[in-house]
Amino acid sequence: MKAISNTLLILALFLLPACKTDNRQPEPAPAETSTNRTDYHSHAQPTLAVTNHLSLNLKVDFEKQVLSGYARFDIDHQGAEEIVLDARNLQIERVTTGVGEEETEVEYRLSEPNPLLGSGLHIPLAPETAIITVYYSTSPGGADAVDWLEPQQTADKQYPFLFTQGQAILTRTWIPCQDSPGIRITYDATIEAPSELMAVMSAANPQKNDESGLYHFEMKQAIPPYLIALAVGRLEFKPIGDRTGVYAEPSVVGKAAYEFADMEKMLVAAEALYGPYLWDRYDVIVLPPSFPFGGMENPRLTFATPTIIAGDRSLTALIAHELAHSWSGNLVTNATWDDFWLNEGFTVYFERRIMEAVYGKSYADMLAQLGYQDLEADVADLGPESADTHLKLHLKGRDPDDGMTDIAYEKGAFFLTLLEEKAGRENFDRFLKQYFKAHQFQTLTTGEFVEYLNENLIDKYQLDVNIDEWIYGPGIPDNIPLPKSGRFSQVDAQVTALLAGSAPQALETGEWTTHEWLHFIRHLPTDMNPEKMKGIDQAFNFSRSGNSEILAAWFELAIGNGYASQIRPQIEAFLVRVGRRKFLTPLYRAYKENGQLETAKEIYEKARPNYHAVSRNTMDKLLEMGS
Ligand SMILES: [Zn+2]
Repeated sequence: MKAISNTLLILALFLLPACKTDNRQPEPAPAETSTNRTDYHSHAQPTLAVTNHLSLNLKVDFEKQVLSGYARFDIDHQGAEEIVLDARNLQIERVTTGVGEEETEVEYRLSEPNPLLGSGLHIPLAPETAIITVYYSTSPGGADAVDWLEPQQTADKQYPFLFTQGQAILTRTWIPCQDSPGIRITYDATIEAPSELMAVMSAANPQKNDESGLYHFEMKQAIPPYLIALAVGRLEFKPIGDRTGVYAEPSVVGKAAYEFADMEKMLVAAEALYGPYLWDRYDVIVLPPSFPFGGMENPRLTFATPTIIAGDRSLTALIAHELAHSWSGNLVTNATWDDFWLNEGFTVYFERRIMEAVYGKSYADMLAQLGYQDLEADVADLGPESADTHLKLHLKGRDPDDGMTDIAYEKGAFFLTLLEEKAGRENFDRFLKQYFKAHQFQTLTTGEFVEYLNENLIDKYQLDVNIDEWIYGPGIPDNIPLPKSGRFSQVDAQVTALLAGSAPQALETGEWTTHEWLHFIRHLPTDMNPEKMKGIDQAFNFSRSGNSEILAAWFELAIGNGYASQIRPQIEAFLVRVGRRKFLTPLYRAYKENGQLETAKEIYEKARPNYHAVSRNTMDKLLEMGS
């Protein structure tokens, strides 16, 4: 997933003040250096009985905002007396167990619901039980994974839309399942949608609307349940290459196909680095703007925010990122959310390698330097000694969302860059290729990765690397391979000229891409007066940019520099339209920190109905709204 903002986790400081502080201390748990696979965020007990295939059958009711039907699992019994699934806010009608076609209704038990984790759904097993079926529906307003959009919230404003977001622990709000990243299942699904809409999933997908409204899906590769995903809307498909294409609303699909024209090239570059793509097709669906993340790597079908459509193909690193997850995350998966960096650190490293292969080193260097800026900001926010700055996290008792910071993404990626420097690129690439192959369709803990790393890289080439400091220690180790970017040095020179009195119009900005502009805005002083801000805005038209990254960076600076009141309509329109958390958090927080909490709340009241639960939960806490 690409979700993070450099400032997101400061939130943690506002919420749960008491227990948060306690939880920041690493527990002297054996997990530190061992290979403990306990997932504290799931009720499932896979060592007793485990699910291995799901047949999902759901009807989509837009009027009631409910999904209803059943989830049937083939299970691996292992002699256990019960199997435990995760369920949160589900209306369970009945549960049956059986062998083959035969079904017998059984008495199930739901444990006391935990607000974060939901309940354990305990289903008794007979010695011959091979199949369990849960008949259920989602609750209106209670399925945090599912975003139900009114036609007004879509690009074309004619039909409703829905999408799901499972990561980290939300799949259990629309499917009762063993919702742990350490458990893999295959699935098939039958979805009944209104006849004018198309349904697509993280599976083999239709490319045309079926007037019956009935869609059947198969995902034959085993995946963790957080990667099960569904979208339903008025969709069209456009191919890009032989194995790649885009889905979007009719008015968006052409723009999306233009923007992502390099997808096939990226796929070829990725395969050249770390081995064959094992998921058949790679498509992207562009969702309405309330999607809370940049992208979500649902296998075969990345879910993406429309905010990466800039018109100039400048924000497509996100596609490289989600594509890279087809190896790191989807093929080899973190066993628990404490090992999240195994998904994201590897993916950011891999994303930059793809971008380097397709667009050259100077482009990848800019991405790395922006990433380093994000990392520094996050470490400052969290505190350099905070246990939340360890790569190996300690999220027991907390929302795994708390771990979605730039630590996992950027510190993780820089650690791999360091390993590359120490081993040499050729050796390191060989190591990674072998790592993906050796662990494909498996899950790994940090401890298991370290063992593999020691054996296959460190000892093999007799390298000296401070692995423990990087993985189990706080902050940014001294030997971080600092990125340098010649193109950003040129930007720095222009910032210097501006501060020395040059008129904004006189700056040399001719060849700049989005990344140079971002670097420029990030390096403007935070105490410029509104008059100066206005002059810069008039010269470069930042407040009316069609590029969401530039808008968000500029608005954040504007709020801090007292210029926001002059561009309030633009800021408000952006916050009401876009639900991507990476943009929302810094903007609302800037208002809050600059004594304008009331303004933030005023805007939020209008915007909140447009946000997915993931973003609503974060903003509710940030703005201290009771929900
Ligand atoms: Zn990611």
